[in-house]
Amino acid sequence: MPALGAALFDSQARASPPRGRRGIRGQLVLPEDAGFNEARSIWNAMIDRRPAMILRCAGVADVRRGIAFARANNLPLAVRGGGHNIAGSALCEDGLVMDFSRMKSVRIDPVARRAYVEPGATLADFDHEAQAFGLATPLGINSTTGVAGLTLGGGGNFGVVTSFEFALHPVGPMVYGGLVVFPLAQARDALVKYRAASTQMPDDLSVWAVLRLAPPLPFLPTDVHGQPVIIFANYYTGPTANGPSAVAQVKTFGTPVGEHLGEMPFVMWQQAFDPLLTPGSRNYWKSHNLAGIDDGLIDALLQSIENLPSPQCEIFFGQIGGQTQRVPVNATAYSNRDTHYAMNVHGRWENPADDDRCIGWARAFFDAAVPFSLGSVYVNFMTQEEGGRVADAYGPNYERLVAVKSRYDPHNLFRHNQNIRPAM
Ligand SMILES: Cc1cc2nc3c(=O)[nH]c(=O)nc-3n(C[C@H](O)[C@H](O)[C@H](O)COP(=O)(O)OP(=O)(O)OC[C@H]3O[C@@H](n4cnc5c(N)ncnc54)[C@H](O)[C@@H]3O)c2cc1C
Repeated sequence: MPALGAALFDSQARASPPRGRRGIRGQLVLPEDAGFNEARSIWNAMIDRRPAMILRCAGVADVRRGIAFARANNLPLAVRGGGHNIAGSALCEDGLVMDFSRMKSVRIDPVARRAYVEPGATLADFDHEAQAFGLATPLGINSTTGVAGLTLGGGGNFGVVTSFEFALHPVGPMVYGGLVVFPLAQARDALVKYRAASTQMPDDLSVWAVLRLAPPLPFLPTDVHGQPVIIFANYYTGPTANGPSAVAQVKTFGTPVGEHLGEMPFVMWQQAFDPLLTPGSRNYWKSHNLAGIDDGLIDALLQSIENLPSPQCEIFFGQIGGQTQRVPVNATAYSNRDTHYAMNVHGRWENPADDDRCIGWARAFFDAAVPFSLGSVYVNFMTQEEGGRVADAYGPNYERLVAVKSRYDPHNLFRHNQNIRPAM
């Protein structure tokens, strides 16, 4: 198949004058090429797929050629931005992977406050350019994530995006934030205080809660390392001088065993969690949207944290609120204005022998949490076997998305994603 694929690409290229090898300006990586295995590796080491070819696009012409080639030859087609999607949708078996790792340009218009971004840019690429002008747009918690996949939410169901345009907002360059850590014994009380405080927090303060074994962070006493803790991650975008008072309440959630708060460059905060989220580990996630943190959920949570199957597993509560809840439901594909927390179970480990144990742990807590959840889910956090939850991710907007899909991709060429199926 790979040799045939390359030959077909050659013959297609002859139809119009080629600009480079096989009529593309980028690079075609085939299974026999050095670097193929590296080119097919993605963030989640659990995903091991062998595409027939990887097309490293250099521009729109390569994208058009790749799509036409996949369509004409009935090949599976996958699109890769930053390669972070937990479900591994950046790769397909025996098909064509359109890889954007060479298209990373980010152009900022500081007057219009707009960013024009190519689909291979990572969050770090974006922040680097935007912060040169003291600007930013909301992105994610790990700087090596792709802007494309994060923005499109689990996948591009309607085509391939070759340029994104974002509105920018003044942020930083210095922001106030950091971590406050309590022992697990105080977690119940801390969560009760957190859920009460969350309803009153100003838009410019965001506080997430993470339960896990304490990493060996230098500001924590060594006897806390490896112990179960609850960590509150605080991020304040208001004037840095107001930062200490803005996060003061979090310190009253208990008696901290350590804290690390202060002013820091925005880009540093954006990369603060990178060391815990490096590529190459095995990962399995489950996620629920929550309107609140019920007492029954806290019971199940604490039991789950007492039985963590690996030192890297964690459960977090990502606080959602402020402006995201003031946008009309039908203005964006994302519809969940009633969600106050996206709760994520992060199963993460190194050894394939631990797969069943760690996946089982994540599923068990997910199941125990069902009665306390909204039934909806954030599409970016869904794993590969969760295709049945796609309608839950889009709620009342799902039928409109199906209509768009049916019109623009009726044969479902773009299906390596959290798939919105066209109507029959
Ligand atoms: C460590 C980590 C932290 C994360 N943190 C956050 C977070 O804070 N907030 C959040 O929202 N999400 C977060 N995510 C989830 C992340 O946003 C999704 O996994 C997202 O799909 C990753 O985008 P990517 O480009 O890196 O992934 P890829 O795997 O490369 O792409 C995912 C899918 O997006 C589609 N796609 C990508 N590029 C294009 C394109 N140009 N045109 C059309 N379709 C395209 C394809 O279907 C592709 O399969 C995180 C993920 C990880 C692993």
